[in-house]
Amino acid sequence: MAASSELKHVDPDQVLDDQAPVQDEWGPIVSHHKAPFEVGDVFFYSVMISLFFGGLHLYGEQFWAHILATYPKPVIILGGSFIISEVGFWFWVTLLGVLDLYQFPKSFWRYKIQPLKVPTWEWYTKALWVVLQNQFLVGVPTGLLLYKLLEWRGNPIGMELPTIWDLAKESIGFLAIEEIGFYYGHRLLHHPKLYKRIHKQHHLYTAPIGIAGQTNAINSHCGFHLPLFPSPLAHDYHHEVFNKNYGPVGILDWLHGTAGSRELTLEKKKQREAAQAKSK
Ligand SMILES: [Zn+2]
Ligand SMILES: [Zn+2]
Repeated sequence: MAASSELKHVDPDQVLDDQAPVQDEWGPIVSHHKAPFEVGDVFFYSVMISLFFGGLHLYGEQFWAHILATYPKPVIILGGSFIISEVGFWFWVTLLGVLDLYQFPKSFWRYKIQPLKVPTWEWYTKALWVVLQNQFLVGVPTGLLLYKLLEWRGNPIGMELPTIWDLAKESIGFLAIEEIGFYYGHRLLHHPKLYKRIHKQHHLYTAPIGIAGQTNAINSHCGFHLPLFPSPLAHDYHHEVFNKNYGPVGILDWLHGTAGSRELTLEKKKQREAAQAKSK
């Protein structure tokens, strides 16, 4: 079983909508079924919410009062957001880098989604350069612009911490905005006129690696379907075949008929072959 380490690219113009490419060999298949809520999703978000509200209840108010009294608001919003996202990003990317490049811990490789495509230093150095440019040349100016918008809307931060209901409402609202904005924006980026100029770079990784996502997309690009983590299978499959699973949640993919998985593709292939055999 030869491990391929080169960056492969399949032109999505050649991929027909109902005929996602089927590879002869996928290697040992971990579970590729993506249910809307898997145990990992429920566990991950329950732990996150419990930690957040546990911490908030114990230390949150004093800590927040101390931060507000110590630092000016632009430093809290811009510096705080930058530090939290940078620490989170580099922490996970370092762990995933060790897992990808040194195959440590080896036992985690049983969860590798595309085990025949082994990430290399070349993949990492290429992605690192793009990530640094994106974080500083795009991320910093965007943060400044968003801060100006927050200021324009009114007092951006106050003394009171949000309640669990505020967070629930905003999370649902942002999830809906993300699903709509991401799905249609992403489909637009797959238009032949835009794809080659912009999105092709992201799709050089037909087996994605965490560093090639930005901060909130590390898990969906990590290449491993780890227990107790949200499933990255849908977006991993998007990288494999280009024309399925454009959205982050899956509702619009289901509505537009662009939802897909290896199982579905294999099933369709079997049906086509059975129909061809019958008609002969
Ligand atoms: Zn991606
Ligand atoms: Zn894409």
